[in-house]
Amino acid sequence: MLNRRHALALLAGSAAACRAPSGSEEPDVVIVGAGSAGIASAQTLIDAGRTVLVLEAMGRVGGRAFTESQTFGAPFDVGCAWLHKSDDNPYTDYARTQGFTLQPHEYDLERVYFGNQPGNAAQVNAAEHEIAEAIMDAPSDVAASTVADIDTPVEEAAGDYLGALDMAVDLDELSTFDYANADDLEPNLLCAEGFGSIVRRRAGGLPIRTGTPVRGVRYDGPGAIVQTDDGEIRTRAVIVTASTGVLAADVIRFTPELPADTRQAIDDIPMGMLAKIPLQIPRSVLGLDPFTDLMLARDGKNDLYFLCHPFGYDLMIGFVGGDLGWEISRAGREAAVDYAKQGLVEIFGSDAANQVTKGALTPWASNPWTRGAYAAARPGRYSARATLAQPIANKVFFAGEALAGGLIQTCGGAFRSGQATARAVHTALG
Ligand SMILES: Cc1cc2nc3c(=O)[nH]c(=O)nc-3n(C[C@H](O)[C@H](O)[C@H](O)COP(=O)(O)OP(=O)(O)OC[C@H]3O[C@@H](n4cnc5c(N)ncnc54)[C@H](O)[C@@H]3O)c2cc1C
Repeated sequence: MLNRRHALALLAGSAAACRAPSGSEEPDVVIVGAGSAGIASAQTLIDAGRTVLVLEAMGRVGGRAFTESQTFGAPFDVGCAWLHKSDDNPYTDYARTQGFTLQPHEYDLERVYFGNQPGNAAQVNAAEHEIAEAIMDAPSDVAASTVADIDTPVEEAAGDYLGALDMAVDLDELSTFDYANADDLEPNLLCAEGFGSIVRRRAGGLPIRTGTPVRGVRYDGPGAIVQTDDGEIRTRAVIVTASTGVLAADVIRFTPELPADTRQAIDDIPMGMLAKIPLQIPRSVLGLDPFTDLMLARDGKNDLYFLCHPFGYDLMIGFVGGDLGWEISRAGREAAVDYAKQGLVEIFGSDAANQVTKGALTPWASNPWTRGAYAAARPGRYSARATLAQPIANKVFFAGEALAGGLIQTCGGAFRSGQATARAVHTALG
């Protein structure tokens, strides 16, 4: 996520067959997913005196907040990296008190290239502001492409930066209302140890069971029954924080089926794509200052953005988003790394690619527990977010980045959504 508007399987068994996977717990609330929203829900409910159990499909906590240090010998945020709206972000104070290293970083572009020709970054930034204003002035919820004037290469680059590289969808798939109702995300911070490390620490001490996919939720009897490969867990309410991509894929079987308007809402808020292609390259090679924002604007929607050497690391982190993000993700790691290296060659000449010692591609498109990067409402379907936020039978509640109000798509927003949903569940339980 780059730049937001800084201008402004199992069928339900009978009750008798119900057994807990291990132990004999019957928590007040089961939370599906140990990402930012799940962690916040769990902590909030525990603070309110409720018992909870968090079930996480992956073998680790954090979900789309994940810092990985093995590949490059430096912390690399596979998912979220920026603490957006950091003066009102639930992770900022926590990170400070926990001793994490935070660094302000906004992303007005500093360098832009049109092919191998240097462009005027200020012009691209200004064009992006104009496009943002046009989108926010739109009187109805339509595709952003229908209200934005994109005539020149500068405007095309600006539109791609705002759409694909920020909102994770191209402008023709971006809802004007989604964009207009999203908060200004400045001021932004980056974390030297990685945002994923902050989220992981915050999960410490919570009752989380990893490697435990939830296969079904039965809510037709008293309370609810959550089904896993290890057995079933009785509970009073369930908070589901799985992405809309996971929900749309029917990975979790609900009994009875979810209401038609909830199902429709899930389909109306599909996942967008933002893929990172980190390249390991000594920072002395290209002479780029740490934290430089660099964009290679290409014909069509083939733009590539690099965050250069954050914290002085020997890393240039390439980003591709929207349709290109999906395409590159499908093509796989080798093709993605070639694509990013080719970008460096276009700008800096052929020797640049020879200096790249390693590259990677983030796996959010193929990860069965995310199925995308973050959710974007279809044009005209902004209201689906409010529909999905409605609890089902006062027992099944949804939370997560797709339901984060002004902080949609963000990790801090997911946390806030988790807190708010937990409070609603606490009230519903009486
Ligand atoms: C490439 C990328 C860059 C991003 N950049 C930023 C950024 O800079 N700043 C920012 O704030 N945000 C950013 N985001 C968005 C941010 O990471 C997400 O909005 C946030 O982490 C989502 O949290 P969540 O709890 O809603 O969902 P998740 O993190 O997806 O958590 C849901 C959890 O549920 C689990 N799950 C799913 N299905 C099941 C099941 N059936 N049973 C059990 N568990 C299940 C999943 O494994 C997952 O762990 C970025 C995301 C990506 C992918």
